[in-house]
Amino acid sequence: MSVQSNDIGLIGLGVMGRNLVLNMADNGFAVAAYNRTSSVTQEFASRLEAGQQVQPFFSLEDLVGSLKKPRRIMMMVAAGQAVDAVIGEVEPLLEPGDVIIDGGNSHFADTARRGEALEAKAIHLLGVGISGGGFGARHGPSMMPGGQKDAYESVRPIFEAMAARVNDTPCVAYLGPRGAGHYVKTVHNGIEYSIMQLIGETYALMKEGKGFTNEQLADIYAEWDAAELKSYLVEITSQIFRRHDEKTGGYVVDSILGEAEQHGTGMWTSQSAMDLHVPVPNIDIAVAMRNLSALEEERKTAAQLLRPARATAGTGLSRSSNAEAAEGVGDLPVNSLRNALYAALIITYAQGFAQLQTASKALEFDLRLDDVAAIWRGGCIIRSVLLNEIRTIFERHHELSNLMLDPELSRGIISRRPDLARTVAAGVHSGIPVPGMMAALAYLDAYRAEWLPLNLIQAQRDYFGSHTYRRIDEAGSFHTDWLSPEGGEEKREQG
Ligand code: NDP
Repeated sequence: MSVQSNDIGLIGLGVMGRNLVLNMADNGFAVAAYNRTSSVTQEFASRLEAGQQVQPFFSLEDLVGSLKKPRRIMMMVAAGQAVDAVIGEVEPLLEPGDVIIDGGNSHFADTARRGEALEAKAIHLLGVGISGGGFGARHGPSMMPGGQKDAYESVRPIFEAMAARVNDTPCVAYLGPRGAGHYVKTVHNGIEYSIMQLIGETYALMKEGKGFTNEQLADIYAEWDAAELKSYLVEITSQIFRRHDEKTGGYVVDSILGEAEQHGTGMWTSQSAMDLHVPVPNIDIAVAMRNLSALEEERKTAAQLLRPARATAGTGLSRSSNAEAAEGVGDLPVNSLRNALYAALIITYAQGFAQLQTASKALEFDLRLDDVAAIWRGGCIIRSVLLNEIRTIFERHHELSNLMLDPELSRGIISRRPDLARTVAAGVHSGIPVPGMMAALAYLDAYRAEWLPLNLIQAQRDYFGSHTYRRIDEAGSFHTDWLSPEGGEEKREQG
């Protein structure tokens, strides 16, 4: 290939990067590829097939020199310092108008900071959330770009060609300025954490409470995936339960240590939600459960000391009492579990989209939530048929603060509330933890409650800290002299 003939350069040939390179090349773009460790580049190059428009490079100077102008360079490296390091190396080789694309899971605030620093040199940074894992990267991911709009236009043809498609619409759309793309990806991952936690709870109830085998579980999840719960995560769950383990002759899933990792995005979702005062309890609890799962040694001790009253597998009989057994998981119809999962999934999406709606205003991203729902319908880990409905809802009502306020969706939740409550009760009575289901039920009940006991909290705050309170029958801030039996209420100028 001649100098300046490549359409795009990609730095970082790990799981994601190498697959994205091949995807771009399949779609007719000439790609320059580079990896910090040259043996990785060599190994990648050795696997290229004849005719694939991929040119491996062993120096960044050569890679940059091979690109058409304005240059487009995508980084697919570990989030954090590596991104700063790569930008630091590449930026001196670039010219005004060139575009750097960060496709990793960077924190949205880092993306805003980096973008601002590069913009001072008229070099543009696009922060692009990419979901779909290695397979998605190869065959069509969901892509969530943010940054300068004009810069996006220069990469749009490549992104639209390589993204997943649903009804011939690519699962990529410009989302907003600065870190908007990485913010949306972060919330995507927060939702992903919650959905995985909820599916895990249905697994625990059916395995421990009902004694179902892996083959039975595989069949149930496959059946669920054929109807309203149709989604990537339910689909792969079914497949996971069928996979045999060559080493033990059993099933792979039974040989895996129950200690989940968290790489930051779920936690960032919760942290940002706290900053924005948006309740996302299902995402919070999913992060907490991963952290709890990591307390391996403590849990072993606790298992001896605090032995839970578990249902006896297959019978629904609790070891603790017959009263508990009556409400045990054994009596819980699988259909109730399915309905509970569906309601909890809607509630999870409701929390995630509510966070995006608030963040859009507070962080001035100007997001279109119908676009977000649209690009999440294919390629990404949280894709599900439910997102079609969610997209339509936001098309009708861009500013909707919470999906649970949509009349049709709310009917879908309320009609399933009894099953969600039964599932939570069965988990509680059997000693099988279902914190995600509990969080979903509590969020629903709190969100729809006209009265919450927060009047008491306000009274307590005023009692110990003179924080004042507002009255239901008169405007203004008030303080009561709680310590003096004679002391009355006084109106304060400002609380
Ligand atoms: P891998 O661990 O497979 O690869 C990491 C890449 O980063 C390697 O090419 C590595 O180069 C490079 N790298 C690390 N540190 C530096 C550095 N200081 N300077 C230059 N290059 C460096 O990661 P993935 O491909 O899985 O992930 C890449 C990004 O994509 C991450 O941000 C990840 O969070 C995100 N992501 C990952 C997904 C997945 O399913 N795996 C899904 C969506 C996003 P070297 O070989 O020299 O070490």
